[in-house]
Amino acid sequence: MDAETFREFGKAAVDFIADYMENIRDCDVLPSVSPGYLIDLLPNELPEKPQQWKDVLEDVNKFIKPGLTHWQSPNFHAFYPTGCSYPSIVGEMLSTGFSVIGFNWLASPACTELEVVVMDWLAKFFKLPAHFLHSTKGPGGGVIQGSASEAVLVAVMAAREQAVRRIKAEQPKLSEGEIRARLIAYSSDQSNSCIEKAGVLATLPIRLLPADKNQVLSGAQLAKAVKEDLAKGLIPTICIATMGATATCAHDDIETLADVCEKHQIWLHVDAAYAGALLALDEYAHLRRGLDRVDSLNYNLHKSLLINFDCTAMWLRDANEIVQSFNVDRIYLQNKYEGQSDIPEFRHWQIPLGRRFRALKVWVTFRIYGAEGLRSHVRNQIRLAERFEQHVLGDHRFELVAKRGMGLVCFRVRGENKLTVDLLQRITERKKIFMVQANFGGKSFIRFAVCGMQPKEADVDFAWQEITTQLNKLKSELATDEEDELSTRNKAKLRKVVICADKHIKDDSDAISQQLISGLHKSFGVEQKAK
Ligand SMILES: *Cc1c(COP(=O)(O)O)cnc(C)c1O
Repeated sequence: MDAETFREFGKAAVDFIADYMENIRDCDVLPSVSPGYLIDLLPNELPEKPQQWKDVLEDVNKFIKPGLTHWQSPNFHAFYPTGCSYPSIVGEMLSTGFSVIGFNWLASPACTELEVVVMDWLAKFFKLPAHFLHSTKGPGGGVIQGSASEAVLVAVMAAREQAVRRIKAEQPKLSEGEIRARLIAYSSDQSNSCIEKAGVLATLPIRLLPADKNQVLSGAQLAKAVKEDLAKGLIPTICIATMGATATCAHDDIETLADVCEKHQIWLHVDAAYAGALLALDEYAHLRRGLDRVDSLNYNLHKSLLINFDCTAMWLRDANEIVQSFNVDRIYLQNKYEGQSDIPEFRHWQIPLGRRFRALKVWVTFRIYGAEGLRSHVRNQIRLAERFEQHVLGDHRFELVAKRGMGLVCFRVRGENKLTVDLLQRITERKKIFMVQANFGGKSFIRFAVCGMQPKEADVDFAWQEITTQLNKLKSELATDEEDELSTRNKAKLRKVVICADKHIKDDSDAISQQLISGLHKSFGVEQKAK
């Protein structure tokens, strides 16, 4: 394809995306396709002859779009949001346009340096401790990882390697194998699945400690587990705390966890994948408590801050711990600039060698919204969730299951779990809005998360309308079923009465009694015996 055709194709694709976004409310949020739909529709072989971009774009519309779950629809309330904004889409386009790989400074100086700049911007915007900033010129700093899962895995593996080094020095009699076999890590049973997975991938068992009735993990629970494990000769290595758990957006007690971690030299990582955005708001300043005592922290810009997937910010108090753990070099990666400045070599901070130029979309988006626009985006998610919460509180048939957390409301229909489960199933089958289920303490509930690119109050009201309408229908069907069941039961009872009466009424000479009895027999289908 030549540049001229690229211009046409690219512009048409931008128009296509803008049309898609503008009309996204017209589509059901969930697609109406069955498994295998696309595999059946498309050819089995790649085309031998080149095809026209217009045909390809038309097929995107015809085959691909109908098979999408519309994450940017304001009627999407499942999981957590995935960030998206026009500036970020353009930033992503520019990054792909340059197609550079920034594994070291020379491989693309702008790629590394822009990442240093935007990570410091974000750290200051969140008012994080100074040791997380590159500009502090200490060992700390921020890096962009692909996902929270990667950030957590990096932290777990670095903590593991640091623990092995420390114990080797402290207890030279223990072999490395023995040390590794004794390492143990901790998190809450409310933490994201990626925490447990990081433990599996890093071969470091993670104990999922029970959160309290408010879904919070605190120091007391951790201290108890650490004590048990020390008694068994195990080596507590890392604790992963959550700020904004996935089921209910609960926040672990970072300060008391830090007390325990400091005492036992346990690495403390905070997974703030979703709710970290609250750090942008001074009215949530209390959430910063304890963050000056954590070793590492991750926040998904691609969730609640307008940046397209993938883009996870990760800060380290001492990046040397990661670099020492992961540093594997080759002659072709070296150049005269390495180690000559305090500019980081980000390839040592991550799992892959290659790295995308993710900082570009962050820079573009941050500049176009400004700190002010970013704050108002976070506040809008909170405001809309509050509106939904008010709807729930205003209807006695529903109850909240947990405190509202940022843009997430957890609610259920009062009474047995089945009502909530049936309601959600019914709503999902209708595809007008999309929410998912969770449970805590034996109670099933529905998560309503404010998502989509430009959600509005009317969208929240639309969701509430759909929820209550479907509950009304469900309840009236249940009532009809109940009535039917009641009348079947009553008929059976009356039938017994008739049979009983039949046996006991000896004197049927009375014409009225006779009439009455034969009437009852007819009504209840009981055969009248000749006397
Ligand atoms: C979404 C989420 C994750 C997983 O994020 P990925 O970037 O998809 O790996 C982890 N932890 C929490 C608290 C989350 O909300």
